[in-house]
Amino acid sequence: MNISDKIYALAREAEREMADVYADIDRISLENTARVLDVFKENRVSESYFAPTTGYGLGDVGRDAIDRICAGVFRAEAGFMRHTIASGTHALAIGLFGLLRPGDAMLSATGLPYDTMLEVIGIDDKGRPAASGDGSLADYGVEYRDTAMLSEGGVDIHAVSEAISQAGGKVKVVYIQRSKGYLSRPTLSASQIRGAAIEIRKAAKRMGVSVPYVVVDNCYGEFTETLEPCSIVDGETGADMMIGSLIKNPGGGIADCGGYIAGTARAVELAGYRLCCPGVGLEGGASLGQNRNILRGLFMAPHAVASALKTAHLAAYVFGSLGYGVYPSFRERRYDIIQTIQCGDPDLLVAVCQGIQAASPVDSYVSPIPSAMPGYADQVVMAAGGFVSGSSIELSCDGPLREPYTAYLQGGVTYEAGKLGILSAATALEETKRR
Ligand SMILES: *Cc1c(COP(=O)(O)O)cnc(C)c1O
Repeated sequence: MNISDKIYALAREAEREMADVYADIDRISLENTARVLDVFKENRVSESYFAPTTGYGLGDVGRDAIDRICAGVFRAEAGFMRHTIASGTHALAIGLFGLLRPGDAMLSATGLPYDTMLEVIGIDDKGRPAASGDGSLADYGVEYRDTAMLSEGGVDIHAVSEAISQAGGKVKVVYIQRSKGYLSRPTLSASQIRGAAIEIRKAAKRMGVSVPYVVVDNCYGEFTETLEPCSIVDGETGADMMIGSLIKNPGGGIADCGGYIAGTARAVELAGYRLCCPGVGLEGGASLGQNRNILRGLFMAPHAVASALKTAHLAAYVFGSLGYGVYPSFRERRYDIIQTIQCGDPDLLVAVCQGIQAASPVDSYVSPIPSAMPGYADQVVMAAGGFVSGSSIELSCDGPLREPYTAYLQGGVTYEAGKLGILSAATALEETKRR
């Protein structure tokens, strides 16, 4: 490994300095692991659940158990986790198309959604309607509106209530994106989102309009806390639906592909009709031998997320100490696994990505270089050397080639490999700067 003595020393200092932070992460991981084990036990997980089904997949006991386990682990009424979901974007589309009908409106309470959602909704990058004819929500006559987040972070309940009232009861879905994605704003905690969902319901009832479903893009947030946005706590329901990808946190670096939806019984049932078709819903779908990986991934997920969180904290400490702008800072409590590093220079951004790639278990001999990507205005450089293509619970890093040359770093299924990746990237950055 190409890691300098200076950077190794910095890592030792970081680990001493953050002992309490790491202990807190271990405590969360222990509690989440205990819940996963409890739910596995309640559902009597056994070898028989791993047997593959084919064809219609009717009576697949493992798949049905995974759906109950998904609900149980996230403390929701219902849920499903399926390998047939292609990506997080696909899972989000299933949720939205499941709930929205022509004439309805969706209201995003966290401003413009993640890039890949724009074409699903049928809006441009300013949030203006852009019906494409490709079958977006806009093509089906679903309106889009949004409200900005509060400047200090958090959902602006007042603005959301106002918008719901203005729409005269048309708002069927209030959409909340937990993680910042490629924006610079704080990530929402599960309890912030639960609180917002409860307030939004109360406000709708007060105004006498129909109560909207609160739908959460939960990507990168799972298992960073002991609570989730849709968790039922003391009999009180949180969000109606939360949605994510199995090649991020809840797949634990083991699931080969897939996504999940969890939430209230009716919302999940409606999403199931969209996943398959009305009538069949969640009762169909052959598991083709994927049940084992999904369950093993869920079992590993609390620990994998803890490793990714420690890796992110370490990156914040190391790159922060070297004088780069980092967000969040190394002491800040995290609700997602994303760490940004402002490299301030295109060569340094590329060096960070190359350092990560060089310390990866797969394709370590490859050297990432910036290139054009469909859907992006600027060139993008990406480091990804994981076992699952595109997996970002495995250590990965990318960034657009524009000011301030920010690297978005996430993942690390083992802290040891995550740490070595960060130290390799820091060494590469230092060497490039000296040139
Ligand atoms: C990853 C992500 C998605 C979904 O992206 P896919 O690449 O389709 O899995 C959606 N929203 C956010 C905030 C994300 O981070």
